[in-house]
Amino acid sequence: MMQQAYQVLNRTFGYQEFRPPQDQIIQTLLNGEDAFVLMPTGGGKSLCYQIPALVRNGIGIVISPLIALMQDQVDALTQAGIRAACMNSSMSGEHNARTEQLALSGQLDIIYLAPERLTLPRTIEWLQQCQLSLFAIDEAHCVAQWGHDFRSDYLQLSLLQQYFPSIPRVALTATADVKTREEIVFRLGLQNAKVFVSGFDRPNIQYRITQKNTPKAQLLNFLQTEHQNHAGIVYCLSRKKVDSTALWLTEQGINALPYHAGLDKTVRQVNQQRFLREDAIVMVATIAFGMGIDKPDVRFVAHLDLPKSIEAYYQETGRAGRDGQPATAWMAYGLEDVIKLKQMMAKSEGDEQFKRIEQQKLNAMLGLAELTDCRRKMLINYFGDQLSNHYPDPKHCGNCDNCLTSVQTWDATEASRKALSCVFRTDQRFGVVHLINVLRGKSSEKIKQFNHQNISTFGIGTELSDGQWRSVFRQLVAHGYLNVNYDYGQLSLNESSRTLLQGKETLTLRLDSFESVGKNKNSTS
Ligand code: ADP
Ligand code: ZN
Repeated sequence: MMQQAYQVLNRTFGYQEFRPPQDQIIQTLLNGEDAFVLMPTGGGKSLCYQIPALVRNGIGIVISPLIALMQDQVDALTQAGIRAACMNSSMSGEHNARTEQLALSGQLDIIYLAPERLTLPRTIEWLQQCQLSLFAIDEAHCVAQWGHDFRSDYLQLSLLQQYFPSIPRVALTATADVKTREEIVFRLGLQNAKVFVSGFDRPNIQYRITQKNTPKAQLLNFLQTEHQNHAGIVYCLSRKKVDSTALWLTEQGINALPYHAGLDKTVRQVNQQRFLREDAIVMVATIAFGMGIDKPDVRFVAHLDLPKSIEAYYQETGRAGRDGQPATAWMAYGLEDVIKLKQMMAKSEGDEQFKRIEQQKLNAMLGLAELTDCRRKMLINYFGDQLSNHYPDPKHCGNCDNCLTSVQTWDATEASRKALSCVFRTDQRFGVVHLINVLRGKSSEKIKQFNHQNISTFGIGTELSDGQWRSVFRQLVAHGYLNVNYDYGQLSLNESSRTLLQGKETLTLRLDSFESVGKNKNSTS
């Protein structure tokens, strides 16, 4: 049967070779076994079910939530001579009835089905009368509540195993962290499925995350020293920041344009067209920009604000270097990012469960930002993929900032305890600026107002600079030793901080590169 699969690949689709592991996935389905496929967008997931659907007897049923794209897929398959159809709520009843008839008489190879149709009892009855080759569950992460695209219709897909135990099933997705994967397996009953994870590594992208200091100037320096006359994208969190950054870059002689949902539609279209057609446009944008943008020679993606999750970071940085040529994913990240995002999440709509998930996703992103090891390794491990054996050293990619210059660390146990007790002595009611002023024994209106010159932590932190204290506080928040209050960003203690305060733990922190820590310097790497 594998020989037939190669024939279909060559003759029907016009491709020479499978991209591994497409061949193994197809083999698995041809054997009648289940499979779980994790590949990034563009990885080539479709062939993994289309080919076995054509080689095996019967109709392949593809469940997809993307109704808008179904007809395009059907048209493309029809062009290739494949008998394909789709059924969803946007089609007429007449059309759907005709598709049912064609399927019953074995005149179709592939049917795309919207998930909500499966919940109809008559759909199950109909499918039971058809000869089926396989079920493909596309965008399988939609079944997971641990994620952003959860669709309750997808929960019904557990029916498939119940009603069609002998038909092989393949679930496919481009975004699934390890937790989501576990949930997909559980909900779809794919415990026996062979798992294939591949293609998440983008070896030509150099990942770098630097400490935010003077962000605009840092960005300009990055553009001028490394990406003169290159096309790239600069992501900002807010529309206001997009506008001001684009304007500022233009004043510095950079060919920059803004893009966000608040701009007039025609302006957005013009800017997007210019980015696609002209040579070296820097698009300053919110996350509204990028979906469906297929420009192969984007040489860099820069983040001036921290994305909310590793999924978002991976997707956004993944727009760089599609042509395989060297590209940079650069980000400036700082304490204000951590505080802003934690506040936003605490304020966001949604139930407790949703907030908890968002919080954990942000924590994973913070983990990546504060990492002292190889960034690529953590990034692709997050998706369940591994650094391939193309790398001479399986632990280091050699093409991220942490691999290129080893990270210095220092024993920050003492400094952290000072910081935490200062939070405690000031009644957990203040933000970072005030706390640092107290630690460094400065005089300010606020200090006088609250009599903080008389508390025991006043002036106990003169050995570190403002910047160094900010670095300590950032890492304490990022590592969960401090909570951020959502009103004014006041910092408060939690269980972890108590353990640290009680002297039960030591703490090693990153030594941020733009500064050197004074007396406490005790670097290892
Ligand atoms: P995904 O569904 O994973 O996003 P697609 O299935 O749409 O990806 O495939 C992405 C592109 O790669 C398509 O243009 C497809 O035709 C092409 N492709 C897939 N497999 C192969 C292959 N074995 N050889 C050459 N091109 C392939
Ligand atoms: Zn690395």
